[in-house]
Amino acid sequence: MALKTGSTIGILGGGQLGRMMAVAGLQLGYRVVGYAPAGDNVAAEACSDFITADWDDAAALARFTQVCDVVTWEFENVPVATVAALPPALLACPVRALEVAQDRLNEKAFAASLGGTPAPYARVESAADLVAAITDIGKPGILKTARDGYDGKGQWRVRSALEAASVAYPGVTCIYEGFVIYETEFSVILVRGRDGTVKFWDSTANLHEGGMLAQSILPAGALVEAQVPAARELAAKVADALGYVGVLTLEFFATREGPVFNEMAPRVHNSGHWTIEGAATSQFENHIRAICGLPLGGTKTRFGSIEMRNIVGEDALQAHLILAEPGEPHLHLYGKREAREGRKMGHVTRVGHALK
Ligand code: AMP
Repeated sequence: MALKTGSTIGILGGGQLGRMMAVAGLQLGYRVVGYAPAGDNVAAEACSDFITADWDDAAALARFTQVCDVVTWEFENVPVATVAALPPALLACPVRALEVAQDRLNEKAFAASLGGTPAPYARVESAADLVAAITDIGKPGILKTARDGYDGKGQWRVRSALEAASVAYPGVTCIYEGFVIYETEFSVILVRGRDGTVKFWDSTANLHEGGMLAQSILPAGALVEAQVPAARELAAKVADALGYVGVLTLEFFATREGPVFNEMAPRVHNSGHWTIEGAATSQFENHIRAICGLPLGGTKTRFGSIEMRNIVGEDALQAHLILAEPGEPHLHLYGKREAREGRKMGHVTRVGHALK
């Protein structure tokens, strides 16, 4: 049964994804209550109520669950123990999705078990493992912490013998991956309803700068378009295997040999922000629809070309100037208090001619 209007959606995490998800929830007549530890929780402004407490604060979590009719997350590093302790009936999506996605070794093994092709990789748990991994897999490669890394943080490139000698084992479980020679990066974003219905948005080409997404572009080009069917097949298998409900993202490298799976995010994704203006239904709205048991909206692209660009760091201070530019740019600022270097502060979407 669909969640009645006026019911309360709980969102774990307080970032910009939660903020945009909350807006979509409010639009559909729900109340939205956020929960996150203290920090610059920009979702709070968009929520009907917001609980600021640690992930292991049992009393605060009990208050949160009392007021929620369904619980979702906007951040994949919410501790599994926190989510597992919530009443299972409240969870929109099984916690297994977080367990798999929080660990790069797990997600690669999981995708491979369903027929996906990750880069060659090895588990690294010591300095000796690192030497062995670099020898086996070769250079160039990337050492990444298995957990908690994002936007290029917790990553060390190993391009040369010199770099191999200077990269130290960071003391936590890592993955060493062979460097993939690719033409473009792209993502598959899908929404899966409670009844197992799956819909995909078009795949954008994603350009990264310094390990962080800078720009998503449609059309994504012939190579990506040729690889989307295989990538979607894997993404649907992942969603089905997890009993997933909501928006799920898989990131790929488009190589001459086919799509190479990089990672998954069990949530709405930065490379899907263009869907707010650019698709029949945005990723945020369809996530809300899915978790509330409402009919999913269409995912069709509405324009012949679309560009989403992130606004990072101090660029946000001048961002309103973008509104004076031609082409009706759509500006989204996240209300973050400090424009720190490398911090995602907002994004701008530009669309081309309308499609019939
Ligand atoms: P990740 O956190 O795994 O998404 O990595 C951040 C970015 O670093 C990716 O989007 C790529 O641009 C780059 N990258 C990560 N892993 C690899 C790899 N194995 N080969 C080539 N580029 C990579």
